[in-house]
Amino acid sequence: MIPENDWNQILNHLGEERDKYFNAVSPPVIQSSNFMFPNLQAFRKAIEDELENTIYTRGTNPTVNILRKKIAALEDTEDALILSSGSAAIAASVIANVQLGDHIVCVQSPYSWTFTLLTKFLPRFGVNSTFVDGRDLNAIDAAITKDTKILYLESPTTFYFDLQDLEACAKIAKKHNIKTIIDNSYASPYFQNPSKFGIDIIVHSGTKYLNGHSDVVAGIICGSKEDIKNIFNIEYMTLGAIISPHDANLITRGLRTLPLRMQRSNDSAQKIVNYLSAHPKIERVVYPFHNTFEQLSLARRQMRGAGGLFSFYLKTDSQSKAELFFHSLKRFLLAVSWGGHESLVMPMVAFYDVKGRPKPDAPINMVRMYIGLEDPEWLIEDLSQALDKI
Ligand SMILES: *Cc1c(COP(=O)(O)O)cnc(C)c1O
Repeated sequence: MIPENDWNQILNHLGEERDKYFNAVSPPVIQSSNFMFPNLQAFRKAIEDELENTIYTRGTNPTVNILRKKIAALEDTEDALILSSGSAAIAASVIANVQLGDHIVCVQSPYSWTFTLLTKFLPRFGVNSTFVDGRDLNAIDAAITKDTKILYLESPTTFYFDLQDLEACAKIAKKHNIKTIIDNSYASPYFQNPSKFGIDIIVHSGTKYLNGHSDVVAGIICGSKEDIKNIFNIEYMTLGAIISPHDANLITRGLRTLPLRMQRSNDSAQKIVNYLSAHPKIERVVYPFHNTFEQLSLARRQMRGAGGLFSFYLKTDSQSKAELFFHSLKRFLLAVSWGGHESLVMPMVAFYDVKGRPKPDAPINMVRMYIGLEDPEWLIEDLSQALDKI
């Protein structure tokens, strides 16, 4: 684990140049689209390396750079890029590593828009994907062909919470000389550092824990200098899915409390998972750090905690009972996403009877729940009264 004093150093000091902005404790928002040079010589020098110099904000910006440095350090990688959404970060890092005729191996049930990228977008450009059960290392190895360029991981997946053995996956990828990309949004760098296991590129939805206040949509790519430069020079600059300096500054502010928030969500989720798993009206709970979890020992080996996101199954297959349960909850917000201060509930029953959409694969009694920063006892009271009604 990154030692505590490193966290303090990264979150409070790294990347900050207070003497350059009137010794302000909090960094200012440098809301400028472009940056001037004192002479031609300096201008030419800057153009040599647009990633290392501030020329134009579609490339780099000093406010965004503070966040880049902190995030790269949190993931223990050489560099990072900040984008306007997690989906943009995923698309840019995947597209940068494939061309016509290439193939991708991806874990089954990845984030929905990752699935769309791989099944609807990339096939139009001659790049196809195979989806495998990421819990099965032999299946991963067997799916890799001579055309495979990327092994795409998401561990745990944010719906079914399947884990991949990151060290073993990195070894398989190295054997075949292909890149590994992981979506690390679930654990955040506080609970999991994939670079430690040899994973090449780490992407995040910065919208979730990293910002942590449900008010910014953002994406992160972390990797080696070479990989980041590669993505920057073509995909980052041409797709132009950059973050505004103001939003970057909000994420830097959110990051200051990442350890506190992650620990709080994690501890509260443990309590609530224990409560739910012992409740007679709950069939089962799926949470990577619960003693009923199939891959618990792997979770303990590569993660330091699991945070606030889990799912559970009500002991009923009646749609009206499931609906009654959700309508009875008063303290959880009915909403997608997660990672903010407020606890959320996303019931699968919401995806049933949606006009123009097929019936989902997920069962009607499945619930995804996110535990935020409230008093866990206050949340348990709410769950208890809602469960009593069904
Ligand atoms: C939310 C999410 C994304 C997409 O991020 P956006 O910021 O919404 O674009 C990607 N992966 C996972 C696991 C997510 O939860």
